[in-house]
This record gives sequence, structure tokens and C-alpha cells, in this order.
Amino acid sequence: MKRPVITDIRATTVTVPLEAPLRHSNGAHWGRFVRTIVEVETDVGLVGLGEMGGGGESAEAAFRALKPYLVGHDPFELEQLRFKICNPTASLYNNRTQMHAAIEFACLDIMGKFLGVPVYDLLGGKMRDAVGFASYLFFRLPNKETGAGEIRTADQLIDQALNLKKSHGFTAHKLKSGVFPPDYELEVYRALAKAVGTDSVRYDPNAAFTVEEAIRFAKGIEDLNNDYYEDPTWGLNGMRRVRENTHMPLATNTIVVNFEQLATNVLAPACDVILLDTTFWGGIRPCVKAAAVCETFQLGIAVHSSGELGIQLATMLHLGAVLPNLVFTGDAHYHQLVDDVIVGGPMRYVDGKIAVPTAPGLGVTLDRDKLGRYSDLYKSLGGYAYDRDPARPGWFSTVPNTRWADPADDRIVDY
Ligand SMILES: [Mg+2]
Repeated sequence: MKRPVITDIRATTVTVPLEAPLRHSNGAHWGRFVRTIVEVETDVGLVGLGEMGGGGESAEAAFRALKPYLVGHDPFELEQLRFKICNPTASLYNNRTQMHAAIEFACLDIMGKFLGVPVYDLLGGKMRDAVGFASYLFFRLPNKETGAGEIRTADQLIDQALNLKKSHGFTAHKLKSGVFPPDYELEVYRALAKAVGTDSVRYDPNAAFTVEEAIRFAKGIEDLNNDYYEDPTWGLNGMRRVRENTHMPLATNTIVVNFEQLATNVLAPACDVILLDTTFWGGIRPCVKAAAVCETFQLGIAVHSSGELGIQLATMLHLGAVLPNLVFTGDAHYHQLVDDVIVGGPMRYVDGKIAVPTAPGLGVTLDRDKLGRYSDLYKSLGGYAYDRDPARPGWFSTVPNTRWADPADDRIVDY
């Protein structure tokens, strides 16, 4: 049988609404996600799907510019693809890791469709039929149109957590934080942990604390049922100093995102749990390789979410399916969205888990109508400043941060 070769690549930027704007330590998602959907065409009629965060004309043009690198390439040749697109020394001048990830997803999708097998079968076979997720809670601003969905108090957060637990079956709850003063967030997080009973919790201020603040905060939560304490401060050395001062496992998705950093973390441990992101690491396969290193050195792992629509979610599910050492539930922003661009609408959570797609390839199909609708919506709305908070005009994030939002009125308070 003739093997497929790549003939073309297409990228379409879409924006899909969230229930309400999501706040984080670097700024906010202003009520929607912007994502780039990638389609890789082959000479046998198979089309592979990929996805990348962000978008716009420059992202679409950047994918188009890769066409000369890809035309004639056999999608099964993934190691060659890695060096064609992101040779580590050439990448010093032109970092294409995240674009490589989207193309790797598409190539795996093509391989699976060509062979009639799901992607997990190309990665060693599945260990589980569904992947578990935490509830992933955010402080939120009200939805601009309806005025609903705001979360800034402990009561509002607990309401959201218990509602999500009821509808989706979550048994782990993650609070994205680093918005309000640490003492306020400590109170809210402790109230959340109490409200969810025996469920586990995790706190992630996206590295906004000083080392000293991170240690002080750790002392305030060590008695809770924490899965881990995620990126309380910035840098391998900062995290190492926090780690020396708490018995909680430390997790990261920011300072161990490639093999060089993973090697450093093995030689001089700073983090206990490595959160694997199929985009940050450059594809599903680099995450599988990194998980094997973690298995060898007995580091924990979990599946990270950098924001996803259904294609990216499928990559997270196939990754989660094949990892023997996956103990922690993953993170997904997915339930904060109101829609998706795949046929059949958003995938469903059952008992806090999402079933791994079993159809050939990634197992998801683009809904052309929705792709068109959300591409038009992007054209009318444009992008948004992920690294700014609409409620704090003039503010920008620093590492460490000391200028928090006042819980009452979002005035900037220097702590
Ligand atoms: Mg994180």
C-alpha cells in the first residue's frame, strides 16, 4: 500500500466563548479562548488535525510558511520531522516547538487513520479507557453579556466546585490563583478544601510568590489533602528552596518543559511532579518520552492543560491513556468553555473522567459549521491580551508579584 505524503497545510484561527472571563496571575482569558486549528493534507485524501494556542494572521502565516518544509514528507517519519522543524540549535534563532506540536498531532492523526487504529495504539497501547481530571476552578469576572458567573468569594468558589462535582463527578479540585492578596487566597483555599470533604485539592499561583511567601503559604496549607503545591514560585532554585521547607510534593508546568530542564531536575531535584503539556513539550511523543524518564527516576507526572478545544483535548486523552505511571488526575480548562469545534459537541465528563476516543487517529472530526462560525467570531473580535487583567487597568504581571487585586473592588494593592 502506498504510504501517504504531505501535500498541504492549512491553519484557521477560531475563538470560542468561555462561561466567564478566567483570571490568573499573569492576567486573564477575557471571556473566550483563541486557538489555531491546523489541517495537514496528504496525497491519499487523509487529513490530519492539529491545534495550537493563540492565533491570528501571524500564526496562520507561520504555519503556511512551513509548507516548503512539509510537502513530500512522510507523516510516519516523526523523528525526521522533529529535526526538520525544530533542530535544537537552529531553534535558537526560530523556536517552532509549539507549531511542531500541532503538526505532530496531525501526523499521528494521519498515521492512525491510515492504519485504522487510534493514536494510543501507536504509542504503546492504552493502560486505561478514560482519563481523570480535576475540576480546575478560577477566580472569574462576570460574563460581559449576562453579568453571571463571577467568582471572587469563598462562597462563590465553593458553589462552583460543588456544582461541577455534581454534574461532572470530580474528586480533585484545582484553584488557579495568584490574583488576590495571599492571605485572602489562603482563606478561600482552606474554605474550598473543607467544603469538598475527602476530595483532594491543589493550588497553583503560576509562580507569582516570592520564595519566602511561597514557604509561608505552604505552612498555611500543609494540613490539607493536597495532591501537590503547583509552581508557587519561579525558577528551579526558587522551587528547590521551597521544597527544602515543606513536605508537600511540588509540581511544575513552567520550569521543567524540556529535556534539558528535566535532566537538571533529576540531578538536583526542585520539583516532584512534572505536568506534561502536549504543546509546551512539542508533541504527544516528547511527553511520552519525558514520562518514561520520570518513571525511571520516580518523579510524579500529570497531564497539563494550556487551554484546549477538542483536538488538543484528544491529544491529552491519548497521552493520558498510555502512561503507566499516571497517578494524579489531569487538568483541563475544557468545562469552562460553552462549545467546541468537533462533531458531536463538547466531550462529556463521567465520574470526573473523559473517555479516550477509540476511532482511528485522534478520533475527533472537525465540525465545519462551527469552525466557520468561530472563525468568523475571531474575525469580528480579534485577539485579547492574555497577559493583562481587564479588571486592573495599567497593571502588568511581575515575577514575583506583589501588586494584587483588592478582593472587594479590584483596586491594585501593594502587599
Ligand atoms: Mg500550572
